[in-house]
Amino acid sequence: MDATLQFITITISMITGLISYAIAGNKGRTGSSQALWFSIGFLFNLFGIAASLLISNVKVCPSCKESVKSDAILCKHCGSKLEAQNTA
Ligand SMILES: [Zn+2]
Repeated sequence: MDATLQFITITISMITGLISYAIAGNKGRTGSSQALWFSIGFLFNLFGIAASLLISNVKVCPSCKESVKSDAILCKHCGSKLEAQNTA
C-alpha cells in the first residue's frame, strides 16, 4: 500500500475512533468501556460510529459503581434505589 494512502487510512480510522469514543462517553461509558468504543470506531470506521449510536444510555450506580441503564430505578447489581434520570 502507498505510504500516503496508508497515512490517510490511519487518520480516518483515528477520527472515526474518536467519534465513537465521544458518543460512548456521552452515553455514560467511561474507562475501559469507553476505550473499547475507540477501538470499535478505529477498526470499523462508520460501522463503529453507527454501533455506538445504537447502544443504550448508562449511568454509574453510586453504591456499587457498576453501570446500569440510565432510566433504571433499581440497580441490577446491588439492588440500590436509583434516581430516574433521562440523559437522552
Ligand atoms: Zn449498584
